Amino acid sequence: MKPFSIYNTLTRKVEEFVPRHGRIVTYYSCGPTVYLPQHLGNLRAYVFVDTLKRALRFNGYDVRHVMNITDVGHLTSDADAGEDKIEKTARAEGKSPLAVAKYYTDQFKRDCARLRIELPPDEESITGAVRPPASILCRATNHIADMIGLIERIVRNGLGYVTASGVYFDVEKWRGPSGMGRLSRQSLTEQHAGQRLEHSADKRSPHDFALWVLNQPHHLMQWDSPWGRGYPGWHIECSAMAMRYLGETIDIHSGGLDHIPVHHENEIAQSEGATGQPFVRYFVHNAFLVGMEGAKISKSAGRFPVLDDLVAAAIDPLAFRLLCFGAKYRSELAFNLDAVRAAAKNLGYLQEFTRSLPESAIGADDAAWAAEYRERFHDALNNDLNTPVALAVMLELVAEANRRQDPRVWHTLNDFDQVVNLGLAHELRASREEATDARLQGLLEQREAARQARDYQRSDDLRREIEALGWEIKDTKEGPRITRRRGTP
Ligand SMILES: [Zn+2]
Repeated sequence: MKPFSIYNTLTRKVEEFVPRHGRIVTYYSCGPTVYLPQHLGNLRAYVFVDTLKRALRFNGYDVRHVMNITDVGHLTSDADAGEDKIEKTARAEGKSPLAVAKYYTDQFKRDCARLRIELPPDEESITGAVRPPASILCRATNHIADMIGLIERIVRNGLGYVTASGVYFDVEKWRGPSGMGRLSRQSLTEQHAGQRLEHSADKRSPHDFALWVLNQPHHLMQWDSPWGRGYPGWHIECSAMAMRYLGETIDIHSGGLDHIPVHHENEIAQSEGATGQPFVRYFVHNAFLVGMEGAKISKSAGRFPVLDDLVAAAIDPLAFRLLCFGAKYRSELAFNLDAVRAAAKNLGYLQEFTRSLPESAIGADDAAWAAEYRERFHDALNNDLNTPVALAVMLELVAEANRRQDPRVWHTLNDFDQVVNLGLAHELRASREEATDARLQGLLEQREAARQARDYQRSDDLRREIEALGWEIKDTKEGPRITRRRGTP
């Protein structure tokens, strides 16, 4: 077995990944705040999540994946300032917060489907019998009781305090004299230098963050709590949902680099402040997509491009997926249309090769020479998810098959595609169906010609050939009608 290694932000090292429980991996990834369409930069993060999950599966791990949908409590500044993002959109669009959240959740799910990003099963489609599920896509508003329970533990442990404006986490007490953040490795003064902190008059320190917000009568979404009606802070959502489904210590937690100093630092503080156990064993962060400000692709100025912009420019969303896969997750990726079009060319190259595969190559074992490529692909994945190298190996495999005129590489290519996930198996099926359709059409035309010529022997032979393809033929007044034969796929 090859060890899988990944960069752990907690230790600032590429480490060998060893899950706590055998082949089971517990994985939590921060999900979207559903108040706007997810732009391509956001979507890069979800392609990364999907790729990491698939790379773990390639290594034989059973990944239990939880992703949240933030539908309350995320303010326009990550650090407890401004308006609730969902409610801001709700007011602007004249809708209820619930309607806003549903609309943008549906849009997010649609974009993920177009990018072949596999989301965990939506809690709203899971019935009571199978709870708690191994993997779940879950909403903050459905887990208020879990959050309240967690806040009660924090308060009991002396790390939370209640004021008129809310329940706050005592950051200075948690961090101790150094004030260092374990993930950011910054002290509170460094972390907040130059950042204007909105200071509620009754907070003990401007660094403290809200676990539960009280006395905000204009906030539309409110719940009862031991401290009064209010709503949860953003950070507590992730801790509560991660622990609810994955336990108090989880193997992997991922998110964007921007989450390190505030959101994830706060998640660690409140989770460990409640349980006394390590919250996360491997913290993994993806870098940004840059250069979108200048992207000429979106018509309306002042917003980042979204997937619909690519589709409008006649670019297959999977080209964007491949663009992301071709870059190292820890490196910034420059976005521009030329880069996406170059990825589209590689996508076309792989699809074209797949469609041209002869039946003999699909039925046979792969050529012995392909084994070396599998090793190299696997090594690249396991080396801190070096996807640009993995992609190069995939393209080389196809180039070598062409050079040798030996197409016996399908099983290797399809295994690679379980990680890259361009849907090549689907491409192959579609091309075989088209070929069958074309053959069927040809046979039907020949048979009709034979009938016209009263060559019944030939017509019967052709009927048998058509039946062998899985179709039944009936001659009617309007001409021959074909139906699928029972028991054929
Ligand atoms: Zn989170």
